[in-house]
Amino acid sequence: FLHNIAVIGAGMAGLTAARALQQAGKSVQVFDKGRRPGGRMSTRANAYGLFDLGAQYFSVRDSEFARFIETFEQRGVVTRWPGVMAHIDSGRWQTRQPEHPRYSGTPSMVTLTEAMAAPLEVHSQVRITSLSHESSQWVLRDQEERVWPGFDHVIVAIPAPQARELLGSETALRWALPEMSSCWSTWVRFNTPLSMPAGVDTWDGVSFDDSPVLRWAARNQTRPGRSEGERLTLLARDDWSDRYLERDPVEIADDMVSAFRACYPEALPAVEAQGAHRWRYAQPRAPIEKGPGYRLDEEMNLSLCGDWCIDGRVEAAWQSGHRLAQALCHL
Ligand code: FAD
Repeated sequence: FLHNIAVIGAGMAGLTAARALQQAGKSVQVFDKGRRPGGRMSTRANAYGLFDLGAQYFSVRDSEFARFIETFEQRGVVTRWPGVMAHIDSGRWQTRQPEHPRYSGTPSMVTLTEAMAAPLEVHSQVRITSLSHESSQWVLRDQEERVWPGFDHVIVAIPAPQARELLGSETALRWALPEMSSCWSTWVRFNTPLSMPAGVDTWDGVSFDDSPVLRWAARNQTRPGRSEGERLTLLARDDWSDRYLERDPVEIADDMVSAFRACYPEALPAVEAQGAHRWRYAQPRAPIEKGPGYRLDEEMNLSLCGDWCIDGRVEAAWQSGHRLAQALCHL
């Protein structure tokens, strides 16, 4: 009988599993090495405004996820967002309608994960460094050698390469944990609004196919509930990010803003401030095999969930955590 459950990782997957298990009457504790819950849905708040550094928005395709999101929409935590997405075809900017409804946290992505974490016991700034099975219960240890004993089951809800490090190579091999690519994310604040490219009234996000550096840019101020001021998040291509993973973030931000200048058809305003953030594990590298959407060892009372079990998207992280919690409730 599972009663005391530890969840390592307070991103979308871990929080989803933790909430469902707590609602089913389990006693759940969540551990995260970050200062705030959210993981790759985190937001940088500084003197220049709010900048989403990871996920910029999310699409909703699954009807169960839609119902879950609706409850947060009613509370004003997320807002449906008809963002204008652009791409560049033979040098011409074009916009397209989204296939699926899109949502954004209001005012930032981390608003959603913080609301999800509110009813939970979350231990922030606690990096779990080892797990051991002692007298048929799990014992967790953290970076300060603190001991967290007494768990019937442990859910590891962290990126696959970090799970491999935590669990050891033997366990990881058995579960065939995938590799993940990195991503440099640069935030930049301009002193006046951008001029729009010819043929485009406005844009909120743009993908770049031809840039050797950038794959995507998004305007932060155009999402619901945000203050004025031209603020971009630029995301680098994964091959470029992998190559320059250990470079100085100041140089990375310079290079990424220069790359945007080279891609943008209009003259850019002056930069007021900029900075770069490194996601060491951003997206699963390989296409993911079909499966239940989580990993579970009933004998060991150990399980894993995360976007990497399904697809590198917020919705997939939710599905992974949700499906795992359902499976654990039936044990
Ligand atoms: P994570 O969010 O990575 O959560 C894992 C958590 O585990 C983290 O909070 C971390 O601090 C914690 N952790 C790790 N190791 C330990 C440890 N040892 N002890 C304690 N805590 C630990 N998705 C979309 O749908 N739309 C987008 O536009 C989009 N854009 C993206 C842009 C970028 C740059 C990136 C990086 C991702 C983007 N994604 C997007 C993907 C989306 O962010 C992820 O799919 C989703 O947030 C993953 O959630 P998760 O819970 O699986 O993992």
